Amino acid sequence: MKEIQAQDAGILMAFANQVVIIPGYGMAVAQAQHKIWELTQLLNDKGVSVKFAIHPVAGRMPGHMNVLLAEAGVPYDMIYDMEDINANFKTTTVALVIGANDVVNPSAKTDTNSPLYGMPILDAIDSDNVIVIKRGRGAGFSGVENPLFFADNTKMLFGDGQKAANELIQAVKELG
Ligand code: NDP
Repeated sequence: MKEIQAQDAGILMAFANQVVIIPGYGMAVAQAQHKIWELTQLLNDKGVSVKFAIHPVAGRMPGHMNVLLAEAGVPYDMIYDMEDINANFKTTTVALVIGANDVVNPSAKTDTNSPLYGMPILDAIDSDNVIVIKRGRGAGFSGVENPLFFADNTKMLFGDGQKAANELIQAVKELG
């Protein structure tokens, strides 16, 4: 796994054409949705297109992420279901994964021995850059390793989701 610091991640996102944010269970644990919305607005002000990609079972109940994002004030037209956004990752500059794991695990498509095999996933790995916010190297709900975290185009921003989102906000603000 390759690490990135918030300052560099903020620069990458601020100069992106398109950022797609993928929330998962960890965003709920961290209660980071408000900070993520604040970050989104800052990026929008810089001309960056931001979309949210929702996996149908992200979190611990269907609709979990939609509820959290709505509570934070994210407008519905920025929120995309998996089947509507998956083709977009190929033209995405940065996929920001916050507290999601199984729902972006590419072994669901490639590893017939994986317990996730056959589960539809968000194709974050197709983006130019992937930034993953999580606290450590631990697995997700399924308990399996995630090859996305070891991919050439992925960098890990380790830390609690709310703290990391706040650091990204500061990094983007520092750019003026
Ligand atoms: P996962 O549970 O796969 O991954 C969540 C990730 O969040 C973990 O890898 C964890 O990593 C990270 N995390 C936890 N706390 C924090 C925090 N405070 N800050 C930052 N990161 C944090 O979640 P997904 O949403 O990707 O996937 C959902 C899984 O749950 C699927 O396997 C699905 O099948 C299953 N499921 C879904 C249900 C549903 O109805 N939606 C019901 C039951 C299960 P780390 O510990 O390193 O921080």
